[in-house]
Amino acid sequence: MVNFSKHLVIIGLLTLFTQTGGVLWLLFLPAHFWLKKRMGRPWKRRLLSAFTFLVFYFLVNIFVVPPLAKWQCGRVPLPVFGHPNLKPHHVIYYCGLNHHYVRPEVKATCERVAEKLASKYPGTRIFYLDANFPFFDGYPLEPHFTHRNGTTVDIALHWLDAKTGKQIEGAPTALAYGVSATPLSGEVDLDEKCGNWLRNIEMNIVQHFYNKENYQLDEARTGEMTRLFSQEKAVRKILLEPHLKTRLGLGRIDKIRFQGCKAARHDDHIHVIW
Ligand SMILES: [Zn+2]
Repeated sequence: MVNFSKHLVIIGLLTLFTQTGGVLWLLFLPAHFWLKKRMGRPWKRRLLSAFTFLVFYFLVNIFVVPPLAKWQCGRVPLPVFGHPNLKPHHVIYYCGLNHHYVRPEVKATCERVAEKLASKYPGTRIFYLDANFPFFDGYPLEPHFTHRNGTTVDIALHWLDAKTGKQIEGAPTALAYGVSATPLSGEVDLDEKCGNWLRNIEMNIVQHFYNKENYQLDEARTGEMTRLFSQEKAVRKILLEPHLKTRLGLGRIDKIRFQGCKAARHDDHIHVIW
């Protein structure tokens, strides 16, 4: 007897997190049932099935999805290993799960800004976070409901080791979200005005997984990166908390805006919109 509800859950979760994975699991099901008939022990069967699916999933996502995405809605993947100054913050999470698709002009802008930043601060790389799924305009990359048309990218801030003052690569946690440069005393703090605990949820979870005291925002590189993005003609808006806009000396730039009280706080990444 086939347990279809189990497969429905797998298809739902894979679709939610990867967009393509649910359909791929559906295509893989005949092979799954074939293995089930031939393998005696359940653990062997599960292991072999999972491994074979992963190989199938990665082969399709690496070789088939990019040309299909280009054809279906004109999106291209951001560089995975191919650019010296522009990288995913986590290869498996952001690229393995297909969160790195954008319109070609978005990719070109990110590469240009990364090169300009590296020429001012040699060795600096820009690390991107969630961008968009490969297919269908209007289909959101949850939980960011505005990442839906290939025209939005989240970018990590730059950090220093607080003791040595040395630059570190990206943010001090795997995914970078929630590593917030919170307001210093005297800076605008919108928590009270917003009164929305949801805006701090990522920060409150992530703070248990690293020691905040050990890191300090690299204001020079973060400020310059944000300014370079704002100078790009195609960039329409950049979302950033007001206290960082002021601290980084970006106060006069009209494109840099507060995201509003309803959205998550933006002092852990910048959200760039084309
Ligand atoms: Zn975003």
